[in-house]
Amino acid sequence: MNTIQLDQSYIAPTYKRFPVEIVSGKGSLVRDAAGKEYIDMGSGIAVTSFGVADDEWVAAVEAQIRSVQHMSNLYYTSPCARLAEALCLRTGMSKVFFSNSGAEANECAIKAARKWAAEHKGPACSTIVTLENSFHGRTLTTLAATGQAHYHELYQPLTPGFAHFRAGDLDGLKSLCADGSVAAVLIECIQGEGGVVPLDPSFVSELEAFLKEQEILLMIDEVQTGNGRTGKLYAYMNYGLHPDVVTTAKGLAGGLPIGACLLGEKTKDVFTYGDHGSTFGGNPVSCAAALSVISRLTDSFLSGVESKAALLRSLLEGAPGILSVSGMGLMLGLKTVRPAAEVVKACMENGVLCLTAKDKVRLLPALNIPEDLLRKAAEIIRAACA
Ligand code: PLP
Repeated sequence: MNTIQLDQSYIAPTYKRFPVEIVSGKGSLVRDAAGKEYIDMGSGIAVTSFGVADDEWVAAVEAQIRSVQHMSNLYYTSPCARLAEALCLRTGMSKVFFSNSGAEANECAIKAARKWAAEHKGPACSTIVTLENSFHGRTLTTLAATGQAHYHELYQPLTPGFAHFRAGDLDGLKSLCADGSVAAVLIECIQGEGGVVPLDPSFVSELEAFLKEQEILLMIDEVQTGNGRTGKLYAYMNYGLHPDVVTTAKGLAGGLPIGACLLGEKTKDVFTYGDHGSTFGGNPVSCAAALSVISRLTDSFLSGVESKAALLRSLLEGAPGILSVSGMGLMLGLKTVRPAAEVVKACMENGVLCLTAKDKVRLLPALNIPEDLLRKAAEIIRAACA
């Protein structure tokens, strides 16, 4: 059997895969088993920050793999400690817990919020509030956090203690908080899976002020928006926010599994020995990869991301068949006249890999995609939308 037949025989069919087997790549170009080349405008859903098989990234991973590939969290390892330092210095957060995915990073944030609130406000203060249309992961608890009912349907009962409100509806949040039961609010600054929907800056700053006044934690899910994607290290920095907890994953290690929950001043001491753990969390190879990624996200590199984003937007905005362009930085959503799935299929046939998010075409190219590839991809996307 070939790969597709084997996959269809033996893999639980939770993914609707395209009939393409990707076998290799370099940077923003990937190749399928038949030798066809594609410009990758999805980067593994915002994971391969510097594209596929980037030389500097490979060197960082290879050096670590040759020294020690895993050690139990009962011992210290340098990449893990240095990555935590780098994340704290770059964000002003105080402590980090490492896991392996975005959902686990959010699980950690939820545990941190529940423990912090129980200790500071009493055991009745345990509700985590998130936004309608949000996405926070697929574990039973992060599904409960996810504000989209269709993800919940098959998996009842979910973890209790979650409530949702509509972005912009601060009064709705205030009524949820009125009985003192809310420990934290968890938001994505740009709802990724929800259709690349950025939050309104004035709503976000009013939200922050209200939470501060009520001593409710502000937690930001930067799983998809983080690590340079929006032109700042983290998307909340575009909004001038000071979160209490930040979660990230995806692009942090540029293509190896990692999750990180960053704890701020209020929550930095919430966990003690035995409160949380993960066999692979803080894995030295993932952390070495992430250190390499983070060290390359300098101010000048990030301003390059902003210029590429401006170029991509200008090539797509107002093009025939493109009704609107949403998002920030290199995280864009296109509302198109043709159904998004048809556009993605046409792009693929013409050598460009794109994604969908709800009814939009979603673009998440590598942060270092060369300008000529960006222009070429935009041309193919425009043709597919027209
Ligand atoms: N949070 C957000 C905002 C996401 O976009 C995702 C995944 O798409 C997750 C959490 C879950 O991350 P993971 O798939 O790594 O568990």
